[in-house]
Amino acid sequence: MKIAVIGSGVGGLTAALLLRRQGYEVELYEKDAKVGGRLAFEEDGTGRFRVDQGPTIVLLPELLLDILEEAGVPRGEIELLRIDPLYDFYYPDGSRWTKWQDAGQQERIMEAAYPGGGEDFRRYMQDMEGLFDYGFQAFLSRTFDGPRSFLTPANLAFLLRSRAYRGLRPWTADYFRKERIRDAYSLQSLYIGGSPQQSPALYGLIPYSEHKHGIWYLKGGYGTLAATLERACRAAGITLHLETPVDRVLTESGRCTGIECGGQRIGYDAVVYNGDYPGLSSLLEGGRAKRRSYVPSSGCLLVYLGLDRRWENAGAHQFFMPDRHMEHMRDVFRRGKLSAAPSFYAFNPAAVDPDAARPGESVLYFLIPVPADEDLDWDGEGAELIESVLERAEQLCFPGLREAIRWRRVRTPRDAARAGLYRGGSFGIAPVLRQSGGFRPQVKPLPVDRLYAVGASVHPGGGIPIVMQGARLLGRLIEKELGSCWKPALPLSAKRS
Ligand SMILES: Cc1cc2nc3c(=O)[nH]c(=O)nc-3n(C[C@H](O)[C@H](O)[C@H](O)COP(=O)(O)OP(=O)(O)OC[C@H]3O[C@@H](n4cnc5c(N)ncnc54)[C@H](O)[C@@H]3O)c2cc1C
Repeated sequence: MKIAVIGSGVGGLTAALLLRRQGYEVELYEKDAKVGGRLAFEEDGTGRFRVDQGPTIVLLPELLLDILEEAGVPRGEIELLRIDPLYDFYYPDGSRWTKWQDAGQQERIMEAAYPGGGEDFRRYMQDMEGLFDYGFQAFLSRTFDGPRSFLTPANLAFLLRSRAYRGLRPWTADYFRKERIRDAYSLQSLYIGGSPQQSPALYGLIPYSEHKHGIWYLKGGYGTLAATLERACRAAGITLHLETPVDRVLTESGRCTGIECGGQRIGYDAVVYNGDYPGLSSLLEGGRAKRRSYVPSSGCLLVYLGLDRRWENAGAHQFFMPDRHMEHMRDVFRRGKLSAAPSFYAFNPAAVDPDAARPGESVLYFLIPVPADEDLDWDGEGAELIESVLERAEQLCFPGLREAIRWRRVRTPRDAARAGLYRGGSFGIAPVLRQSGGFRPQVKPLPVDRLYAVGASVHPGGGIPIVMQGARLLGRLIEKELGSCWKPALPLSAKRS
C-alpha cells in the first residue's frame, strides 16, 4: 500500500516514519527546498550566526524520545540538556523572579513572594497532578469522532469537577494571590498561540509539566531535529520530493485516491495532509470541505540577532513583563493592535550550549506576541516596537545589547501567512475551547475515506511533542483502518506502547 504525505513539518516527518515502520510505502511531498516547516534555523548565510527560527523550549522529553524511538530514531541520537532554573521574569521596576523546576525550591520562592505562597503552590501542584494524569489519557491519547465522543459523561464530570473549561488566567486566581504569579502560571498558553484569558484551564498542564518533566534544550538547537528526521526518512526508504507543492487532493466517490502536482495525477491508497489544516479545503476537488472559519492563534514578531558579545548572567529563557501584562493580551487577542508596552520572550542559547555561537559571540531571539494580522504596519509601527523591546531588554538584562548587534533578521505575521500559516497565526488555529479536544479538526478530519491530517491545527494540537503524538494517533488509526503492511524485513523499533 502506498501513502502520500503532504508537508514535511515535524508532524509529516514523524507520520511518514511511523507509517513506514508499519510497512507502507511512503512518499513525502514538500513545497519548500528543505524539510522541517516551522522546525528550522534562521541563518546569516556566512556560517557565523545561526539560531532556531521557531521552537526553542523542549517540553515532555520522555514523550518526544519515546515517539522518536518508535519512529526508528534511537534515544542515543538525541542529546537533551536540562534547563534549571526554568526561566526568569524581568519587570519594569528592575525586579526579577525566577522559576525552578524543583517543586521544593519553587515552594520557597513562592513563600518569599507572599506569606502562604508556598502552601498555595503545593495545593496547585497536587491538583494539577490529577488533572495531568486524567487529561493526558482522556484527551491526548485518543482521537475523537466528533464532539459526542469527546463529551462523554466521564470527561464532562472531569471538566466540571476540575473546572478546566474555564479560562486559564481566571482559573489561576483560585490558587495564587498575586497578579504577577497568576501571569507566570498562565502565559504558557502563548506557547501555542492561545490567549491566557480564553484558553481553557486544561492548558494549565503546560506550566505544571515544566515543573514535573522539566524544560530541556536539544543540543545544537531544536532545528537539528529536522535533519535527524530527514536522515531517518531516507534511511527507511521514504522518498522525499522537495520543492514539489501538491496542488490537489484527488477524491472519488467519497474516497481519497491520490494527489496532483505539477499537472500530474498520482494515485495513492491514502493521503496524509500536514500543511496548516485550514489550507486543506483549497486542495480538495469540488469544494468537498466547506471553507470553515477558525479563530487563528496569535502571531509573532520575531527578531533574530547575531552579536559579538556574550552575557554570562542571563539564562537561556526569559520573559520580560510589562506592568500590565493582561492589557497586552487584550491588545493581541481582542483589540487586534500592537501594544506600546508588550510582554516578550528572549532566548539566549549560549547560556545552555556554549557552542551556540563562536567564543565571545552569541545569538539571541526575541518573540513578541502580536495579533495574527498580515496587514498591520509591520515596517513602521512594528519596527518601532522592536526598537523599544531591544531597549528594555538592554536595560534589564543584556547591557550593551544594541551596540553588539552584527546581524539582524525580522519575521512578522506577513511572513507566516506567506509560508501558509492560517491568517498569519504562528501556531495553527487557536486553542480556544471550541477548537480543542473533540472540537478540533481530527486525524481523520472529513467524511472522506483514506484522507488523514496531522499537524499543529489538528488534534491534539501544537508544540513539537504534541504534534508528534498526533502522528502517533494517526499511525494507529491508519493501521486500524487499512491494516498493517508490516514486512518482516523491516526492523521493528525496540519499544512500542
Ligand atoms: C515562533 C514559534 C515558536 C515556537 N516555539 C515552540 C517551542 O518552544 N516548543 C515547541 O514544542 N513548539 C514550538 N512552536 C510550535 C511548533 O513549531 C509547531 O507546533 C510545529 O513545528 C508544527 O509542525 P507541523 O507538523 O504542524 O508542520 P509545519 O511546521 O506547519 O510544516 C508544514 C509543512 O507542510 C508544507 N506544505 C504545506 N502545504 C503544502 C503543499 N500543498 N504541498 C507540499 N508541502 C506543503 C510546508 O511547506 C511545511 O514545510 C513554535 C512555533 C513558532 C512559529
